[in-house]
Amino acid sequence: MKTALALITALSLLGGPALAAEQVNLYSARKENLIRPLLDRFSAETGIEVNLVTGKASALLKRLQVEGRNTPADLFLTVDAGRLHVAKQAGLLQPVKSRILTEVVPAHLRDRDNQWFALSKRARIIVYSRERVRPEELSTYEDLAAPKWKGRICIRSSGNIYNQSLLASLVAHHSEAAAERWAAGVVANMARPPRGNDRAQVKAVATGECDIAVVNSYYLGNMQSSSDRSERDAAAKVAPFFPNQGDRGTHINISGAGITRHATNRDNARKLLEFMVGDEAQKWYAESNHEYPVKAGVEVSPIVRAWGYPFKEDQLDMGQLGIHNVTAVKIFDRVGWR
Ligand code: FE
Repeated sequence: MKTALALITALSLLGGPALAAEQVNLYSARKENLIRPLLDRFSAETGIEVNLVTGKASALLKRLQVEGRNTPADLFLTVDAGRLHVAKQAGLLQPVKSRILTEVVPAHLRDRDNQWFALSKRARIIVYSRERVRPEELSTYEDLAAPKWKGRICIRSSGNIYNQSLLASLVAHHSEAAAERWAAGVVANMARPPRGNDRAQVKAVATGECDIAVVNSYYLGNMQSSSDRSERDAAAKVAPFFPNQGDRGTHINISGAGITRHATNRDNARKLLEFMVGDEAQKWYAESNHEYPVKAGVEVSPIVRAWGYPFKEDQLDMGQLGIHNVTAVKIFDRVGWR
């Protein structure tokens, strides 16, 4: 026992993570390859070591809750404003004072109390069959409930936060009743019961199972540039359409992060957040995952540029997506969108 303790002490003195001079602990719901290179750059520039824990958003949220004030996490990073809202409501985050963050991240892309900030944007777009649909036939999300699309739409399940946030935006812009009519109309127009992820919807349009699908923009970008030939072929059979360009703009969501309520390395966490909205990190996000930068003036990837950029983005406050999430989930349930 004594030997074991001595060994642990010796290892710690040799510079185990627990004793590193400067560090920050990150819980991330983004895949490691979408974040690690950025963290390494941050460490190289600042000398601050980043300890990364990757997991599913729901699991990390639960872990933060269970760990409470004993959590090692300083920073929580995830996708979708709906989830960031949940973290805030659960009291897991704290306000951050940073002129860099409030200057770079537009007000509608951060929490009103500055408890979380967008790091990248994505659009939830329509993809359509180049063979069976003309772009002139498309217009708005609202139009997806029209009878002309009967049996032609593929879209994933309502358990997915992306669809919950899209429906939440319709609740925010119209009303609960109007959003419910819309959701019922889309269910009536589905080519098949919802199944699969966003990529699977693109493939279903490519194989002719449906004519249009609703997907997050970066999935199309990643399929177009995929090393997998079947993904490239599927992507080549569809084209992107940005809905609601004639009115409020296309639905936007974010990846984002916030400092945990019980962070012990709060300054380092703020520095990492500020690094993530800097030119280098913003460019990297845009290029590696075909997302949209939150920082003005940063270029998008060539693939994303070819879709048409800039486009009109819905300026809805991201907090609204969280506020109306519960209503959206109930609507999906009532209309049988499984
Ligand atoms: Fe995604």
